Amino acid sequence: MLDETTLTRLEAALARRRAALEQEIRAKLAAAREVTGSEAIDQLIEGGDYANADLIAALDLAEVQRDVVELRALEVARARIAAGTYGACAECGVDIPVARLEAYPAAIRCTPCQTRAESRAGTGHSRL
Ligand SMILES: [Zn+2]
Repeated sequence: MLDETTLTRLEAALARRRAALEQEIRAKLAAAREVTGSEAIDQLIEGGDYANADLIAALDLAEVQRDVVELRALEVARARIAAGTYGACAECGVDIPVARLEAYPAAIRCTPCQTRAESRAGTGHSRL
């Protein structure tokens, strides 16, 4: 279990990472808008609805897609904080080392479980 101080610190790290990601996504979308002239991208930027993964997939913005995957992982982490399960591996239940959470606040698995999950997925990347 994480103590209150650590949890607060990690929660702040999550929020920072989330803000940085959103900024990154917006910048990449704006760049894509320049190239493609797609009005759909305008709507995406205005709406701020980055969960609209279908549109992002349709636009073939692989980099943005990866960011969106991480953004969703951050949402999951936040929900786990609310549920009081953050910091425990989602698969085996072991406490995830704080150093790992600090490096990657969206982590929901311990390193061995994450490695297994990635080899199951076959690509080394999370899938949408
Ligand atoms: Zn595990």
